[in-house]
Amino acid sequence: MTQETMEYDVVIVGAGPAGLSAAIALKQLKPDVRVCVLEKGSEIGAHILSGAVIETRSLDELIPDWKEKNAPLQTLVKRESFLLMTRKLGLHLPVPPQMRGRGNYVISLGKFTRWLAAQAESLGVEIFPGFPAASLHMENGRVAGVITGEFGRAKNGEQKPKTYGGGFIYHGENNQAAIGFVVGLDYKNPYIDPFAEMQRFKTHPSIRKLLAGGRRISYGARALNEGGLQSQPKLTFPGGALIGDSAGFLNVPKIKGTHTAMKSGMLAAEAIAQDNLENYPDAFKHSWAYEELYLARNIRPMFRFGLFPGLLHAAIDTFLFRGRAPWTFKNHADHKQLEAATHHAPIEYPKPDGVLTFDKLSSVFLSSTNHEEDQPCHLTLKDSSVTAKLNWPLYGSPEQRYCPAGVYEIIKEGDAPRLQINAQNCLHCKSCDIKDPSQNIVWKTPEGGGGPNYGEM
Ligand SMILES: Cc1cc2nc3c(=O)[nH]c(=O)nc-3n(C[C@H](O)[C@H](O)[C@H](O)COP(=O)(O)OP(=O)(O)OC[C@H]3O[C@@H](n4cnc5c(N)ncnc54)[C@H](O)[C@@H]3O)c2cc1C
Ligand code: SF4
Repeated sequence: MTQETMEYDVVIVGAGPAGLSAAIALKQLKPDVRVCVLEKGSEIGAHILSGAVIETRSLDELIPDWKEKNAPLQTLVKRESFLLMTRKLGLHLPVPPQMRGRGNYVISLGKFTRWLAAQAESLGVEIFPGFPAASLHMENGRVAGVITGEFGRAKNGEQKPKTYGGGFIYHGENNQAAIGFVVGLDYKNPYIDPFAEMQRFKTHPSIRKLLAGGRRISYGARALNEGGLQSQPKLTFPGGALIGDSAGFLNVPKIKGTHTAMKSGMLAAEAIAQDNLENYPDAFKHSWAYEELYLARNIRPMFRFGLFPGLLHAAIDTFLFRGRAPWTFKNHADHKQLEAATHHAPIEYPKPDGVLTFDKLSSVFLSSTNHEEDQPCHLTLKDSSVTAKLNWPLYGSPEQRYCPAGVYEIIKEGDAPRLQINAQNCLHCKSCDIKDPSQNIVWKTPEGGGGPNYGEM
């Protein structure tokens, strides 16, 4: 089947804060440039999850009159506390300077991206939700566009007669990938279940006290990536550039990435407007975003040695060296961090009570996750024998625990373990793609519009 081609000057993949900021900045600089943004979620914000505290520095630069334009930033942070929680106690510690949120806003990132999308559209940007970029379109050794995923292909690989549609080529002079928040789970114990840890967190006495006092709490299991300045990929390639958290722009000690992701998009847009994408890495190196990430670069790697060594080092790095220590510690790939299950005891998590704590599947239900069931599985194994040879005997199949949606299940066939993949529940967090110890799991974009629907989150 011949693919239809849509012509643009710039094609942006992903309508997150970075992609939309790039689109807006580019149209502000060059109104005649034809820009489109492809988004795999069924609508803008559908795949964006973060009850975020946002710094407005990038927004102030991008849309200085955001208040007059009714940006959904209404709740100013006025008071904050930092608690170190032991099993029973919550110890109040001074808020580390990087984590201070006073003057920032508590927002729904989903609502914010919808507002950014409206600003982009008012400038003439064309946005296509439900269109995942599935592969690159190459011409003469450079990226000349992206090809969106097909729809209407059945589980058995055949085209469904009434609904099949081939992918489109979105042809552009410059393509940027703003593909999102790369999640990894930096822990060594294969028995840890981040979802169950989060449920346990809700029953902590300090949290119960806050709830009893009528406070509303938004919480999240924070998966920390292996990104950062130390492991940043090359920001440009022939025909395109990486922006946003896909390029590692999350400041882990601040637990904030939105403002730096936005700034990266804005800098890439400036380089495109100058007709020289190669200027982008250098412009980033001379930006406040680089300075901020540089000063925080040593904090994350030291937590590999445990909480207390990590905290002690963070204090020394922050207060003594002010982020300018004459060394840089390396980050290590998450999938190389797991230790053998025999080094750890299985963890008995309390059963969910159905009041404060819930099981995985009822939480997946709340995310309104939905995929067309009759489509090729978007999660595959490079080698199906790895479950029985490695994941199960050595690590006790950690994918059963780190996947927040319970997609991976071990079914015993006699003594042999078989990995069952319930792909329709997938939340697109990409943890499996990153954490699987032998990198055997392959995650591809499913049919457009599938996945979670986070609504107002
Ligand atoms: C639990 C949690 C809490 C956080 N808290 C904060 C906070 O308090 N403050 C803060 O500043 N930051 C916070 N962050 C980080 C913040 O969410 C990210 O820094 C920010 O969203 C990065 O923006 P982005 O545009 O690079 O990527 P994303 O926001 O991930 O956007 C990427 C977009 O691209 C789409 N996409 C991906 N692949 C494709 C494809 N192939 N085709 C089409 N579309 C595609 C995705 O669906 C998504 O809409 C938090 C993150 C998490 C997960
Ligand atoms: S299967 Fe989906 S939800 Fe589960 S870890 Fe992988 S990407 Fe996340």
